[in-house]
Amino acid sequence: VLSSAQDFDFFYFVQQWPGSYCDTKQSCCYPTSGKPLADFGIHGLWPNNNDGSYPLNCDSHNPFKSSEIKELIGQMQKHWPTLACPSNDGLKFWGHEWNKHGTCSESVLDQHSYFETALRLQKETNLLEILRESGIRPGGFYRLDEIKEAIKEGLGFAPGIECNRDESGTNQLYQIFLCVDNSGKQIIECPVFPRSKCRDKVEFPVFPSITEEGQS
Ligand code: 5GP
Ligand code: 5GP
Ligand code: 5GP
Repeated sequence: VLSSAQDFDFFYFVQQWPGSYCDTKQSCCYPTSGKPLADFGIHGLWPNNNDGSYPLNCDSHNPFKSSEIKELIGQMQKHWPTLACPSNDGLKFWGHEWNKHGTCSESVLDQHSYFETALRLQKETNLLEILRESGIRPGGFYRLDEIKEAIKEGLGFAPGIECNRDESGTNQLYQIFLCVDNSGKQIIECPVFPRSKCRDKVEFPVFPSITEEGQS
């Protein structure tokens, strides 16, 4: 009974392309630590069930405490940057992810291990490099199938892909979902994929440098 609220089957490990968050109608704000790398950033590690359902906000008695991840902050700023407005140091985004999702896997990953696990998974997957090896780079349009195939080939596991729209309505690659076993140790084949909303052809937009922004 005690543990039933935290039962889940696997994690979604979700990474976001900053270019696709920032070029929307809503725009974005860089964190106070500075412009993020032109690389996929972590969005979250989300407990999920095989039937597509998922638990949320599982333990209000175990709220996010920045003191638990002090030693990870530097890496978090680099690899888990917040792009929401108004500009802030990221603690809000990380706290939101812990409180909403992390508390639902606290029986396997405490706060420090939760963030450490996500950072490790991102290092292990290196999506930008995998895509580049298949000729898929920011600045181009690609078939959805071709993006999925490239990741399957480079990583051994097929991803879920989420698209959004830029300011002019163009369909673009926004988030990549990978699945992870419920101990957080390894990438697995996804038991179920999130709904995709991607068209056949999707843009992989650049995350412009300040110079490019100035030119446009
Ligand atoms: P959206 O409505 O933008 O797809 O999702 C809003 C939020 O709901 C996400 O940021 C995430 O916190 C949660 N969410 C959406 N889809 C899923 C899912 O398939 N699994 C889990 N665990 N959370 C999800
Ligand atoms: P979710 O609830 O979908 O897991 O997470 C999205 C929440 O985190 C939203 O409230 C959003 O405003 C906030 N947030 C802060 N920074 C970011 C970011 O860089 N990307 C996304 N997707 N959400 C962010
Ligand atoms: P959350 O309110 O739950 O902050 O965000 C709700 C939705 O709006 C999420 O899909 C999140 O990614 C998006 N969102 C929130 N704040 C921003 C922002 O500053 N810029 C952009 N592009 N999206 C945002």
